[in-house]
Amino acid sequence: MTEPYKDQNFATRAVRAGQHRTNEHEHAEPMFLTSSYVFDNAEQAAARFGGDEPGNIYSRFTNPTVRTFEERLASLEGGESAVATSSGMSAILSTFMGLLSAGDHIVSSQSIFGTTRVLFDKYLAKFGVETDYVALTDLASWQQAIKPNTKALFLETPSNPMNEVADLAALSALAKAHDCLLIVDNCFCTPALQQPLALGADIVVHSATKYIDGQGRCIGGAVVGDAKLVGEEVYGFLRTAGPTMSPFNAWTFLKGLETLDLRMKAHSASALTLAKWLEEQSKVTQVFYSGLESHPQHELAKLQQSAFGGIIAFEVEGGREGAWKLINSTKMLSITANLGDTKTTITHPATTTHGRVAVEDREAAGISDGMLRISVGLESIEDIQSDLERGLALL
Ligand SMILES: *Cc1c(COP(=O)(O)O)cnc(C)c1O
Repeated sequence: MTEPYKDQNFATRAVRAGQHRTNEHEHAEPMFLTSSYVFDNAEQAAARFGGDEPGNIYSRFTNPTVRTFEERLASLEGGESAVATSSGMSAILSTFMGLLSAGDHIVSSQSIFGTTRVLFDKYLAKFGVETDYVALTDLASWQQAIKPNTKALFLETPSNPMNEVADLAALSALAKAHDCLLIVDNCFCTPALQQPLALGADIVVHSATKYIDGQGRCIGGAVVGDAKLVGEEVYGFLRTAGPTMSPFNAWTFLKGLETLDLRMKAHSASALTLAKWLEEQSKVTQVFYSGLESHPQHELAKLQQSAFGGIIAFEVEGGREGAWKLINSTKMLSITANLGDTKTTITHPATTTHGRVAVEDREAAGISDGMLRISVGLESIEDIQSDLERGLALL
C-alpha cells in the first residue's frame, strides 16, 4: 500500500499516516464496527478465501479501523509491519507463539512487567520454552546466558520502576552474533521518545493501554517489525488464535497517537522538573530518573532517547510505613497501578506491582520498601508538588 506521508516528520505521521478515505470523504477516521464483509458473488468469496484476491473477509483477520492504527504505528516505529492485539500481554504472547517452538530458549531482563514474567515461567514453560533472567544493564551476563537454542533476547528499557536503561545497540550486536532476535517492550518511551528498530532491535511490542491511549480508557497492544516475522508469522498466530484488537479500541488508540508527540514531551518535561524537586527534599533518600545527572545511565539515555519519559521512582525515609504515609496523605494523585495517563498516579511497587516477587529478588533489583513510583500526568506541576509536600512533611 502506498504511504503518502512516509517522508514526513514524526508529528505529521502521528496525525495522518494510515488513513485511506472512503467514498464518503470523511475527514476523521471512520470506525468499522463490523464482524464480516460482503462479497459480490460466490467467485469472489472463493478467491478471497483462497488468497487469490486481497480484501477483507472477517474482522478476526482484518478490519479497516484496526489496519489504520497498525499502519500508523508501524510508520512511527519505523517498521515494515505492525499487528494490533487485544492487550499488551497478548502482543507478547502472540510474538512468542508466532516465532518460537518447543525447545527454544529466551534470555530476558529480570526487570520486566510482572505478568510478562508469569507468562514466561508458568505458560511458555508448559510448552517447552525456557527463560533465563539477567540484569538489564550487565552486558556480560546477557552474553553468558545465551545458549545454542536461544532464539530471543527480551527486555524493557527504561525499566519499571527503576528507570534502568539498556544499551540497545550493544544488545542488538550480541543478538545478531548469536542469530537470535532482540525483542523490546517500548511501552515506557513509545516511538515518540525512542525507536528501538532504528537501534537494531528486530521486534517492538507495546501495551497500547499506557501512553498510546494516554487517557486510561482502553486495553490494547501491538507488535511491530518486518513483513516476514510480524506481517506473516505473528499475524498468522493472531488471525488463528484471535487476540485481535477491537475496532472501537483501535479508533481510540488512533486518537491517542495523534497527541502522542505532544503528550510525551509534556510528561517528560514535568517528570524532569519533579525529579529535580524530589532530589532536593530532605525526606527523599534517592530518586531514580534517567534525566538526572545522578542516574548511572544518564549519558546512554540521552543518546538513545529524545527525552526521559514520565515515570519516576524515589525512596523516602521510614521504609514501607513512610511510603504508605505519603501515599495516604495525597488528595489529588490517583492511587492506582496504571501508568501513562494524563492523571498522575502513585504506587508502592513492593506491595503491588512487585508484591509477588520474592523478597531477595526484589531487593536485588533495588526495589526497597520505601520506594514509590509516580507516573507524572499533565496536571500543573505545582499542584503535583504540593500534593506530595503535605505527606513529605509528615515523615
Ligand atoms: C502494562 C504493561 C504490559 C501489559 O500490557 P496490558 O495492556 O496490561 O496487557 C506489558 N509491558 C509493560 C511494560 C507494561 O507496563
